[in-house]
Amino acid sequence: MKLQLLSTVLSFVFLLIVFWPLEKLFPAWRQRTFRPRWLTDLAFFLGQYLVWGGAVLAVLYGFRHWLDGIVPVAFRTAVATQPWWLQGLEVILLSDLFVYWGHRLQHRVEFLWRFHSIHHSAEHLDWLAAHREHPIDTIYTMGLINLPAFLLGFPLETLAGLLAFRGLWAIYIHSNVRLPIGPLRALIGAPELHHWHHARERDAGNYANISPLMDLIFGTYRCPDHEPAELGVSEPMPKGYLGQLLHPFRPKGKTTRPLIDTDKREAAFHG
Ligand SMILES: [Zn+2]
Ligand SMILES: [Zn+2]
Repeated sequence: MKLQLLSTVLSFVFLLIVFWPLEKLFPAWRQRTFRPRWLTDLAFFLGQYLVWGGAVLAVLYGFRHWLDGIVPVAFRTAVATQPWWLQGLEVILLSDLFVYWGHRLQHRVEFLWRFHSIHHSAEHLDWLAAHREHPIDTIYTMGLINLPAFLLGFPLETLAGLLAFRGLWAIYIHSNVRLPIGPLRALIGAPELHHWHHARERDAGNYANISPLMDLIFGTYRCPDHEPAELGVSEPMPKGYLGQLLHPFRPKGKTTRPLIDTDKREAAFHG
């Protein structure tokens, strides 16, 4: 527990050191550091590190173990005889493909949206808001990201670097940052693309989490030259941490507190 607390504090400090200056130097819009609902997002951060992280990992290991039992050995042997770079490329591309379609389903299928809408309820984005995600939503996404590696029999350790990069990138694309990288954004992705994914309309496009390749292929790439006017969801949603954790399990229409009010964005958006 002590170690867990230490790693939580160290991760927080590391992220703060990386993202706070970036957000101050290259903001996409004007926003105070302690903007509305920052405590809810901090609770999601702490919950993820101190409570849910271990459970998510345990489910993933169980899932991998289950797949080990059903994937034919001959298939994995055939995969392993390919050059390492080809195997790596296959894992990355398949992972992007699974996450892309899995994410589109989260926006389409009501049951999945119940959990995913928690992530979209953030009306102020920054690096901390990236952590607002229901633990069941996390299991779903992590399962899809890792599914190709599990199927092909890649040891997780080989992919640790890639997974860490994906995690950090997922935080970056939520940050209040806009860098002038021009056409490069179509290749490697950028926060402004994901900001548009968080626009209030539910099918706003940009479902990929790193390279927008899949969005370009399937026609959901969207990159206006300004930031969206409003972020969040247009349905009732509790605002606090516990309320949001329980929200997916409540009968529809039973949320009493209004959602969209109210925490007025304090300043005009960039552009
Ligand atoms: Zn989404
Ligand atoms: Zn997001």
